[in-house]
Amino acid sequence: MRTAIIIDDSKTSRSILRNILEANNYEVLAEATNGEEGFDKYQELQPDFVTLDITMPVMDGIETLTKIKEFDPDAVVIMVTAAGQKQKMLEAIKLGAAEFVTKPFETGQIISILESIE
Ligand SMILES: [Mg+2]
Repeated sequence: MRTAIIIDDSKTSRSILRNILEANNYEVLAEATNGEEGFDKYQELQPDFVTLDITMPVMDGIETLTKIKEFDPDAVVIMVTAAGQKQKMLEAIKLGAAEFVTKPFETGQIISILESIE
């Protein structure tokens, strides 16, 4: 698991995730600011895994997860969630999300999740 794409509408979140991933020797192939763009990038680049924000304009994380899993049932998708999104998290589990990281980001949590998907 060495290549990733980051799908998140928040520039700050994208840059924090990129820094953590790159510091741990993951290659970030692309960033996308909404689910539609993210799904296009997924099809084009077929990364080892994706970090996918739940709350985004145009196409949210749940819809994007559905499309990615339809395209590639083995896709490894790490959902990015915030407090109070339990319902969406349950939905994402049913749809096959691999793991969850919560905002605000905690480097240690992200690193242990990356180790768990290796
Ligand atoms: Mg968001």
